[in-house]
Amino acid sequence: MCGIVGYLGKKSATPILLSGLKRLEYRGYDSAGICVLENGALKTFKKEGPIKMLAAELDKQSLNSQIGIAHTRWATHGQPNETNAHPHYDCQHKIAVVHNGIIENFEGLKILLAKEGHKIVSETDSEVIAHLIEKFYHGDLEQAVLEAVKLLEGTFGLAVISESEKKLVAARRGSPLILGIGPDEIFIASDASAIIEYTNQVVYLEDNEIATISEQGYEVKSLDGHNANNQVTEIKWTIDEIEKSGFEHFMLKEIFEQPKTIANALRGRIKDGKIKLSVNFDAKKIDKIIITACGTSWHSALIGKYLLEKIAGMPTEVDYASEFRYRHPIVRDNNLLIVISQSGETADTLAALRETKNCQTLGIINSVGSTIAREVKSGIYLHAGPEIGVASTKAFTSQVASLILLALYIKEQISGELDQALSDELLIIPEKIQTILDQAENIKAISQNFVSAKNLLYLGRGINFPVALEGALKLKEVSYIHAEGYPAAEMKHGPIALIDKNMFVVFIVNHGPIFEKIVSNMQEVRARGGRIIAITDVKDAAVEKLSEFIITVPSVSEELSPLVNIIPLQLMSYYVASANGINVDKPRNLAKSVTVE
Ligand code: GLU
Repeated sequence: MCGIVGYLGKKSATPILLSGLKRLEYRGYDSAGICVLENGALKTFKKEGPIKMLAAELDKQSLNSQIGIAHTRWATHGQPNETNAHPHYDCQHKIAVVHNGIIENFEGLKILLAKEGHKIVSETDSEVIAHLIEKFYHGDLEQAVLEAVKLLEGTFGLAVISESEKKLVAARRGSPLILGIGPDEIFIASDASAIIEYTNQVVYLEDNEIATISEQGYEVKSLDGHNANNQVTEIKWTIDEIEKSGFEHFMLKEIFEQPKTIANALRGRIKDGKIKLSVNFDAKKIDKIIITACGTSWHSALIGKYLLEKIAGMPTEVDYASEFRYRHPIVRDNNLLIVISQSGETADTLAALRETKNCQTLGIINSVGSTIAREVKSGIYLHAGPEIGVASTKAFTSQVASLILLALYIKEQISGELDQALSDELLIIPEKIQTILDQAENIKAISQNFVSAKNLLYLGRGINFPVALEGALKLKEVSYIHAEGYPAAEMKHGPIALIDKNMFVVFIVNHGPIFEKIVSNMQEVRARGGRIIAITDVKDAAVEKLSEFIITVPSVSEELSPLVNIIPLQLMSYYVASANGINVDKPRNLAKSVTVE
């Protein structure tokens, strides 16, 4: 998920690899490593923490090599430490590999390789690749990589180097990789920012392609061995544009990444008619779930309550971590405490976890190896990749997707049956989200109508009430416009007093048993002059008449509807904030990881 750089040329490889890694720092990482081939031997240096630590180590060496590979790691499997940092080696230390992505079947491969005598030393999913290449290596690195990747399930961007040949091999499936072409040198990189200071001529590797680079040049083939015909393209983007993949801000990039990040959260977890999670509690022994979290994660917790009660029939309570930790909560041995935190370092959530010693605990966390991830008894990692925008978007939807998986898992454990229809539908949610992202220009145009609004109200019901809360929070966070989320029916118990012709009210209006009730709430708003923006999956004359603006979303099962309804709300917040010239990725007064009480 993070960065790869490779170099073969006439210059000294180490400074080029290091400057490439520095350029990739913006993607977020927890450790870094480098491997060069010098005097017929591979030399590797790895460090946990910032690249300057690795640079300081390399300063002490006097390396003189013209070929090497390098990596920034954002751990998905195994703690961020030196052993788990890449490059990884085969048993003989003759082949080194850097990998971005996730190998889903690594556990099975590890067992097979161990039976054949391979010694795996790290906790990563990546190391098996080096050993597979070793297994198939008979003097031709490209052929060995081709054989090895046939056995891999999951996603990979790879760069491989061997002691025996002055060659680099790169391969990709699902993780981006490009070649940079200079007059006497060739680069490999996860994105062009790593190499743009050396060349603007690049070749994009497509999924299921392999490139072999030698002093004679490069060759690209498909993974089934056919020659490919990739063109050299000239990059005209600035570094800033490359880092944000052409989007104006990281927040927008991350909103658009959601089809991919949700697919990553689900990857390998719905398989052979079963939900596969590595959690270690016995669902049949759990009699109540308590979820605790802060901010956006608290909103996913509220959605989780609906999901766990509806899908799994499990009584569920939700609490702010900052309240839970100080209020003498009653937690019994048979309860399950779930803590949700993107960073895994949220101070209040960590303290709430530490308050609770007697029951099973489960973390839903994005950052592998974070403090909460280490202290829970089991966990579900989001695999959303680093989230750089301070206002959470892709981590939120991955939290919700993980909670759906958890509810399906608990139901299956208790009843012995998978909810096949819902899990099938969950797998196609990324496509549904894409159809909303395709309407971004229309959502942007609608958003321009309330860039100077002072207040907005967000109303939803049932599982979409927390979505209304999250929509309001997103707007507050990035645009500094005051917004409140409410359950739609609660409006008449107070907030209705605020409604006049200057008040924009966002309604989440889904098909289903409470559709008519929401339409009545819309009537109440209209009767007082409020201006309605409807997010809806229903084509209905009353909704059309009552709404000034309509954003249509695909119709999905109620349990999955938060995943689609939040997308237009995220986009609206972004467009309003950016129209007001706000530094969307770093809004004032907010921190990405809230490590203070
Ligand atoms: N899954 C690999 C690991 O945890 C690669 C992570 C990455 O892409 O940085 O080591």
